[in-house]
Amino acid sequence: MSAQPRLTIDLDGIAANYRLLQETVAPAECAAVIKANAYGLGANAIGRRLLAEGCRTFFFAHLSEALELAPEIHQAGGTMFTLNGTGLYPVDAFLKAGIIPVLNTLEETRHWAREAGGAPAGLHLDTGMNRLGLPASHDAAVLELKTDGLNLIHLMSHPACADEPQRAENRAQLSRFVQRAAAFGDITKSFANSAGCFLGPEYRFDVARPGLALYGAQPVSDRWVDLATPYRFEAPVLQVRRFSEGESFGYGGTHSAKSGGCSATIGAGYADGVPRCLSNRGHIWLGGIKAPIIGRISMDSLAADISAHPDPESLVHELAQIYGPDLTVDAQAASAGLSAYELLTRIGGRTQRIFANALDSR
Ligand SMILES: *Cc1c(COP(=O)(O)O)cnc(C)c1O
Repeated sequence: MSAQPRLTIDLDGIAANYRLLQETVAPAECAAVIKANAYGLGANAIGRRLLAEGCRTFFFAHLSEALELAPEIHQAGGTMFTLNGTGLYPVDAFLKAGIIPVLNTLEETRHWAREAGGAPAGLHLDTGMNRLGLPASHDAAVLELKTDGLNLIHLMSHPACADEPQRAENRAQLSRFVQRAAAFGDITKSFANSAGCFLGPEYRFDVARPGLALYGAQPVSDRWVDLATPYRFEAPVLQVRRFSEGESFGYGGTHSAKSGGCSATIGAGYADGVPRCLSNRGHIWLGGIKAPIIGRISMDSLAADISAHPDPESLVHELAQIYGPDLTVDAQAASAGLSAYELLTRIGGRTQRIFANALDSR
């Protein structure tokens, strides 16, 4: 068995999450946000599977992320957007690939209107997040460009606080979006990220744009959504060690044993995307027990206290789950003070990705 960490992605689980989200937002269309390599899990395999599930609108952050899937998505009649606009890419690169930028500034919008020869674009209206998108004061200038060759096919905004449904900002952003969108006439609109899908029907518009929930992490703070956990990030036990009271573990010796026991050294560290702040705070799942991570996480390994296991020595070469169905990114993120988004997108380095239930392997 390989000593390297591995990430197994169950495409059936992702498909099930897509169907749940599609049912939640119906009659709106459920798009898929597969930016950042589908939150670290693998955009190409996931994009293909979602196409087979009927998804026809895909969002990326950058043009480069969208290129490989473009022929397949276009052949199926699908549409691809880049959320980070045109950036410094030449307009031609978008036109050639048939990928549609979401324009985020007036300057970008003017440039597209001038250079793109009537090719379609999306437009992001900022309604309170102050991250990307145009302020209300630019709406009139954009509307003028519409008579001047600007071909807008999608109008969006993005909620800042949708994971906290009680926040007044949600309603405030919604009403700003509705008000400003009216001036743009009959155009496809979207507002909801994963959390926004659960805010209520008035937030769903024509298209919803979930990312995180597709990958099985909980989108909303005040309710449990019955999502499949499609990721399994594992690494093998390299050694099992017996230790005595007072022994310390790892760089800096930041954990001292209160009594004798057994530890497992697991072959994944921060170079594989296990954040160092899970040191002395996170857990692994091994041999049916939830074992605390002890000492600092190293580059290539981490240690866990497996004293609670009835036969710790039998665990050598077994796979320890770092994130997966028994120990979710939500649980680990809560221990580390990080977000599930960060834990998923960080899995990397030498981690081998294995796709279970891919359509072409059946
Ligand atoms: C990343 C992103 C999404 C998806 O958000 P999730 O919280 O992962 O569902 C949707 N819309 C925009 C504009 C985004 O940047």
